[in-house]
Amino acid sequence: MKLYAPSTIREIREKHGFRLSKSLGQNFLTDKNIIDRIIESSDIGEEDLVVEIGPGIGVLTAEAAEYAGKVVAVEIDRNLIPILEETLGAYPNVTVINQDVLKTDLTGVVERYRGNGGVKIIGNLPYYITTPIIMKILEDRVPADSITIMMQKEVADRIKAAPGSKTYGALSVAVQYYCTISQVAAVPKEVFVPQPKVDSSVLRLDIRKEHPVELIDEKMFFVCIKSGFGQRRKTLLNSLTGAAGLSKDAVREVLNAADIDPVRRAETLSLEEFAAIANHMTRHIK
Ligand code: SAM
Repeated sequence: MKLYAPSTIREIREKHGFRLSKSLGQNFLTDKNIIDRIIESSDIGEEDLVVEIGPGIGVLTAEAAEYAGKVVAVEIDRNLIPILEETLGAYPNVTVINQDVLKTDLTGVVERYRGNGGVKIIGNLPYYITTPIIMKILEDRVPADSITIMMQKEVADRIKAAPGSKTYGALSVAVQYYCTISQVAAVPKEVFVPQPKVDSSVLRLDIRKEHPVELIDEKMFFVCIKSGFGQRRKTLLNSLTGAAGLSKDAVREVLNAADIDPVRRAETLSLEEFAAIANHMTRHIK
């Protein structure tokens, strides 16, 4: 059965009386080339564990199961569970967990199911919670090697943006701190059923084994990013005033020590410059 064929999706909907949920971000993939690109670029080995977020009717799941030692798919919609039992029946190495991924202990899932190989996270993400899902995986430090995921193009552009560009923001710095990023594919909206309003991109995020900058206090780094971009039109002197309880004079001293011009704005700062400011802030309040 060609799971990705629009006719299959229609048949499944009729047979199971399944109704697509807009609020759960259900836009199913119908392009075999894109499915292959996602699976190939996730570089799945036969001893690997694949954790999939939002399997839908199982197009990516079935393909991943051909290559992986084990696939665990987390799907929130209980109406999809009997459908997945049917579409994935031929794959004994697949386990479906009927749960909200944002409430799932993904580290626990990895510890329970991992084999002797690596851990790859994949998914065509529900767009209404793309950023929370990515940040949960990274902040919880889920022990995975990579995350290969489809998301709306606009979020992908923000994630990979460089300092100085319009789309560079807190999300770019945070994801670039945890991962190296590569673009796998640009995906037009026409390859989904139903068709979403926006185009998509597939990114591969390789989780860094070592952080790219040295931080005395990681929390301070994120305080800096949040304050800096919280008021992105303001100069650093103004946007950072009040961060970690620092006065304007203290911020001036910190920026001076970090050798950063106080009239610059957060959107111009590299990861290294954020780290320098954060480390001087930490020293200042000690
Ligand atoms: N992987 C399928 C595909 O590519 O055709 C479906 C992708 S669809 C964009 C997103 C899937 O995520 C849907 O099956 C939806 O029900 C599921 N989903 C939505 N919110 C979720 C959540 N909080 N936790 C787990 N799955 C969720």
